Amino acid sequence: MNADFQSWLGEQLQSLKDQHLYKVPKILQSPAGGRVLMNGKEVVNLSSNNYLGLANHPKVRAAALEAIEKWGVGAGAVRWIGGTMSVHQELEEKLAKFKHTEAVLVFTGGFTANSGCIPACLTNHDVVISDELNHASIIDGVRLSSASYRKGDGWVYPHKDMDALEFALKKANEQGFEKKMIITDGVFSMDGDIAPLPDIVRLAEEYNAFVMVDDAHASGVLGKNGAGTASHFNLYGRVDIQLGTLSKALGVMGGYIAGSTLLKEWLINRGRPYLFSTGHPPMVAAALIAALDIMENDPEPMNRLWSNAKCWKNALADEGFDTMGSETPITPVYVGDEGKAQEMERLLWEEGVYALAIVFPTVGRGKARIRTMPSAAHTEEDLSLALNAFKKVRDKLKTA
Ligand SMILES: *Cc1c(COP(=O)(O)O)cnc(C)c1O
Repeated sequence: MNADFQSWLGEQLQSLKDQHLYKVPKILQSPAGGRVLMNGKEVVNLSSNNYLGLANHPKVRAAALEAIEKWGVGAGAVRWIGGTMSVHQELEEKLAKFKHTEAVLVFTGGFTANSGCIPACLTNHDVVISDELNHASIIDGVRLSSASYRKGDGWVYPHKDMDALEFALKKANEQGFEKKMIITDGVFSMDGDIAPLPDIVRLAEEYNAFVMVDDAHASGVLGKNGAGTASHFNLYGRVDIQLGTLSKALGVMGGYIAGSTLLKEWLINRGRPYLFSTGHPPMVAAALIAALDIMENDPEPMNRLWSNAKCWKNALADEGFDTMGSETPITPVYVGDEGKAQEMERLLWEEGVYALAIVFPTVGRGKARIRTMPSAAHTEEDLSLALNAFKKVRDKLKTA
């Protein structure tokens, strides 16, 4: 082993520790759910994206087991070389119907869907204009492209600022770019607010740009049966590229791109993670088909998600906590100071609640918060335990 490299690693890690940015994952010792066993302790889990409680649903488990019996456990090859089974194809057809788009292509994750799709759609004659709060996987996808995208050049607009977006579109037209892509999260993952998609689509149409929306946190949460932000705003046929995850509300893993047949064909030929990385095990596709069936036919989990989310937000607001204008189940509880947020996370854990402090650089300096995610998997009792913990911890911090 190279000593210089090892000591570099040690120094970097120490620097993260000094800045309170060093991560130690806690270990889940039970299935994902509202109440879990974690690091040997029973806690209410407010940090899971398992919005609908499908990660451990009996029907989804049964479908996965049946697929193992039928197909075995691996696809055996990257998808275009022979790793596409009929169960993968069935999932894509079902997703396309669900999204009201011509076609869907599934990638192994939302992250890989972004890093596969974005660079494939852009050349060095193009520009991509993005919201400053877009997810890291969008940012990485954009960086992999040869398009112009830099903030310093004016291609990153302040969060949801439509005047700034219009200004950038005008400038892009003046500079004569071939294609202009606008890209945004549908639901912003740290603040829980919704992108102004109708305005974005209107501006795109006016300035001849195309739109990509990342619906990782809108899939299963917003729109008809959870079909996403385009459905929520009734913008069918007007969003060029919709990304969804299969890892969050759908409870399994994967990401997909929904759009035209031409887009799908292009990504099969030019989407690098599709071309060079093995596809999902067949049980993943089968579990997802079952999960999607539940989403389409049983309104109960989504109703419970929203009623729990509303209860939780109202209860926090009644107690004077600031939930930062969140419009979706993602509920940040504003703290401000980084050190205080981290202390709050630790005290909440002591009270039996797992909710993470989100601090710089994930969010801006001095905008630290505890991020909470109520879900369909929580009972009333779970949420009232959590609320009491928040109150108790606040009192402790006040008198400290
Ligand atoms: C979680 C997330 C992703 C990544 O999805 P995975 O399926 O977990 O890889 C992409 N975009 C956004 C906005 C996300 O929140």
